[in-house]
Amino acid sequence: MRSIKFMDHDGTIHDGWVFENQVGIVQGDIFTEFKRDQATIPMSEIKLLPPVAPSKIICVGRNYPAHAKEHGVEVPKVPLIFLKPPSSLITNDDEIVLPPQSKQVEHEAELAVIIGKQGRWITPEQAKEMIFGYSIANDVTARDLQRTDNQWTRAKGFDTFCSLGPWIESDINPLDSLITCRVNGEMRQMGSTRDMVFSVRQLIAYISSIMTLMPGDVILTGTPAGVSPLAPGDIVEISIEGIGTLRNKVVSQKE
Ligand code: ZN
Repeated sequence: MRSIKFMDHDGTIHDGWVFENQVGIVQGDIFTEFKRDQATIPMSEIKLLPPVAPSKIICVGRNYPAHAKEHGVEVPKVPLIFLKPPSSLITNDDEIVLPPQSKQVEHEAELAVIIGKQGRWITPEQAKEMIFGYSIANDVTARDLQRTDNQWTRAKGFDTFCSLGPWIESDINPLDSLITCRVNGEMRQMGSTRDMVFSVRQLIAYISSIMTLMPGDVILTGTPAGVSPLAPGDIVEISIEGIGTLRNKVVSQKE
């Protein structure tokens, strides 16, 4: 199933599901019990919202050896984690806003894991039960500020710096999914989740040994090599096999 959140023409927010180019309302709680209305609303008549409202967005740094190498750093021995604020979330077709504080904002194409259950001290063996589905993320990063700051909250935390969507796909193979990122049609990143240092199961086990995971929480699993700067007017398209394509336009901060 493809799950979304959307706003209808009256401004009401719904959980929904997508079948081909049509949307249906989901009644109930997507994480526990729900029923789906027929998908009869054309995609063009709704406004997509970020597909979940997470209590937290947990990100993993340097989880692909080739990306660690391009920044001249070692692959970590345990997962390197940081947080992005939920206020940084946008979704498909929203604009990524370049803040005036940075001269080098870059895309990071990543597989996002959406948590479906509350859990702490989850073992790698139990981890699959915690997963609601998968989505596409752009972990937008102010690279110059990441270099100057010891903590990455500023570099990773600006509004619009976490694009997520367009939907959550309940069933993909996270062990080997192709990830690509194109800017203005030109290929910048191509990798596969098979190259992750720590697998999705290992990440869930590690993170849940630190903090309680909640339904709707999002884990960004790291980016393959090929990150590059964004400029106003750029169109960034991230595709993940089995999910789809997340597309955003880049604009500069309005005065
Ligand atoms: Zn990242």
